[in-house]
Amino acid sequence: MRFIDLAAQQQRIRDNIETRLRAVLDHGQYIMGPEVGELEARLAAFSNTKHAIACSSGTDALLLALMAYGIGPGDAVITTPFTFIAPAEAIALLGAIPVFVDIDPITFNIDPASIASIIECFSGNTTTRPGPVPSKIRQKKPKLRGIIAVDLFGMPANYSPIINMAREAGLFVIEDAAQSFGSEYFGRKACSLADCGCTSFFPAKPLGAYGDAGMCFTDSDELAARIRSLSIHGQGADRYENISVGINGRLDTMQAAVLLAKLELFPEELVLRQEIAGFYNQLLGDNSSPVVCPTIPDGYFSSWAQYSVLSRDGIERSKLQGKLKEEGIPTAIYYPKPLHLQRAFAELGYTQGDFPVSESCAERIFSLPMHPYLKEEDQERIATVLKKISSREFATQ
Ligand SMILES: *Cc1c(COP(=O)(O)O)cnc(C)c1O
Repeated sequence: MRFIDLAAQQQRIRDNIETRLRAVLDHGQYIMGPEVGELEARLAAFSNTKHAIACSSGTDALLLALMAYGIGPGDAVITTPFTFIAPAEAIALLGAIPVFVDIDPITFNIDPASIASIIECFSGNTTTRPGPVPSKIRQKKPKLRGIIAVDLFGMPANYSPIINMAREAGLFVIEDAAQSFGSEYFGRKACSLADCGCTSFFPAKPLGAYGDAGMCFTDSDELAARIRSLSIHGQGADRYENISVGINGRLDTMQAAVLLAKLELFPEELVLRQEIAGFYNQLLGDNSSPVVCPTIPDGYFSSWAQYSVLSRDGIERSKLQGKLKEEGIPTAIYYPKPLHLQRAFAELGYTQGDFPVSESCAERIFSLPMHPYLKEEDQERIATVLKKISSREFATQ
């Protein structure tokens, strides 16, 4: 059994991929070939945004969005500690300070109420507690500029309150949709839920290339123009005019060709993922289950990048993962260590206990195999193994 089965997917569209790649070999425009523009147009339409700008990875998409907002030293940007390092990394790479906020225990996404208290703290309101903003950060008096919310495991963050707070405080909001391409929030598509949406086409993401790839989405003409320029070394009207310092952040044509071929399957794959998640819920959602299944609140549609469950504690998680491994069933932990406790961010001054929900989830969470081609009998076997352990080993606890 595989955790993510890219081979099963390739089997279905191998001819299409080869045709697309052969076309690139024939025209030879490996950088900014016609497939890049075609992909941008298709995905802007898919996500219902005015602009889509292809770029080299999800991480670069975040970096480019922050650069387009002029983020640099002296700035602070709010983000979640319970995710992949990329959003906090992009903030820090530009010399700005990532300010962490705890997550909601049900959705694992950034908690709007906690964002509100951080905004108050930054507004200099001395009647409120400083909250978990370390004194090391407060002493630097950074200017709060924006928020990066992450759509973890494929489910959008709760954008309505986040956008309202941001508008009031004059902050921008970036949607890290690296895991959520194809998902929806009250009828609106991921990547269109904030001022700028950033996604990744890393091979294991819901829509994956055969290498690194990403995209920025926005309705703002001005922001789109800045992101596009920054992704080509800050290029101006022509190739050797530079209007700002940018990066080499383009998407290469081969990856665009692969993505166009895979896009044909994508809507159907979203439905399949939905069915697989539903079947897991059915198998593991009762009292005899040793794990808590994910909850998708009303109004949300997840792209199910991961199916992540919570065990009772860290010891139980190790036992469950160990038994599954013995049976040849792969699992993974997203994420074993919250970002505020990573050595990379040690100098920000955060400590254990600052974000109890993130810390507890990091100890208890693990992900089961999830991809559109997972077989029912495999899911049944996973549930049987989990429930057998739960009845034997945890019965006396
Ligand atoms: C994968 C991921 C990224 C980074 O994407 P890359 O294409 O690997 O650079 C950013 N944020 C989140 C939440 C991710 O899961």
